[in-house]
Amino acid sequence: MSDKDRKDIPDNLVRRTAFPSSVSRAVVTPLQPSVVYASPDPDTLDAQYDGREFGYTYSREGHPNASVLAAKIDALEGVEGGLITSTGMSAVTATLLGLLGQGDHVIGGNQLYGRSLRMMTQELPRFGISHTLADPTDVAAMEAAIRPETRMILIEVVSNPTLRVADMEGIAALAKSRGLVLVVDNTFTTPRAYRPFDHGADVVIHSITKLLAGHSDAMLGYVAAKDPDHRAALEGTIITLGLSGSPYDAWMAERGLMSFHLRYDRAEENAAKLADHLAKLGARVLYPGRPDHPDHNRAGALLGPRFGNMVSFEIAGGRDAANRLTRAMPDMAFAPTLGDIGTTVSHAASSSHRGLTPGAREALGMSEGFFRVSVGVEDIALLTETFDRGFAAL
Ligand SMILES: *Cc1c(COP(=O)(O)O)cnc(C)c1O
Repeated sequence: MSDKDRKDIPDNLVRRTAFPSSVSRAVVTPLQPSVVYASPDPDTLDAQYDGREFGYTYSREGHPNASVLAAKIDALEGVEGGLITSTGMSAVTATLLGLLGQGDHVIGGNQLYGRSLRMMTQELPRFGISHTLADPTDVAAMEAAIRPETRMILIEVVSNPTLRVADMEGIAALAKSRGLVLVVDNTFTTPRAYRPFDHGADVVIHSITKLLAGHSDAMLGYVAAKDPDHRAALEGTIITLGLSGSPYDAWMAERGLMSFHLRYDRAEENAAKLADHLAKLGARVLYPGRPDHPDHNRAGALLGPRFGNMVSFEIAGGRDAANRLTRAMPDMAFAPTLGDIGTTVSHAASSSHRGLTPGAREALGMSEGFFRVSVGVEDIALLTETFDRGFAAL
């Protein structure tokens, strides 16, 4: 039987028809999952690839949902032309592999995000790129790590999970005087607290997955560069290595971003209160907004009153106490992430820093009783009540 005889199959089933036109417009950003874009003719497609006409071609090379999201983060960071990647780690990867080559050397902060550290120590050597890790709170240590082949410094403003604050001004001046590309992973601080491009950064990275999207249901990254040559290199690397982000995640992240400023402000307010509450409960507390934090003065100078939503604390009693604390707070997610709208608690020794020996963790100030709290927007009374219950179980 030929298709012609199957009268139940309409002839136009395969052809895509245009959306119905409407004098009223959709309020919500459309989600465009199309992988490919049809051009009218080869001349136009040529013009698109040459940059004489703007038009999407293939979604690995860009799509409207990524453009919409990137433009919003660009506005927050004070830059243009930011790029959306599939994860925060894709943004880190694009930066390191796109801007460095065989024989180059990069200096990384010694308390970078765990996978960024692993990228430097395990992956880059295979490409002939060497690294040195140095303490970003100590500009002399960063300077001492510079070699003739050093090209880049990659740092985070506030470290995970000990919340040390980098000497950003000293490092920016150092990078400038020695002609090094300064890359800042701004995931923790967010542009609400710190805008690296205003302070000498050349490249800014985000894990959008965290505070910007804010609901733990979209995984994406962002990278932007001031220098057009850097931007072109990043874009080429992202497209060729296949590091681009999906339309659906970009659409979800844009929705999350709409409330970012409100979530951030509320979470930060909660974090300051929770830090004081945990100290009252007897924990050793690390929060840059507290006068007992080792970098309190620098945090004040760099971040003004924006001390962030992350609080770390340490309890006595080892792994046993750590288990009892989390079991007594089952309604609060014990999960290795940060930046969710709700408060999450993570434990360095069993997650982010499990690859280190206990001795190496102790040297960084992370015992078995060390926790990091990513504070969310709940009512503060609910939060303090939950931790009261956790501490009562100790
Ligand atoms: C989570 C995180 C990353 C990696 O982001 P993913 O989206 O999980 O790949 C990079 N840097 C920092 C500071 C992070 O917290």
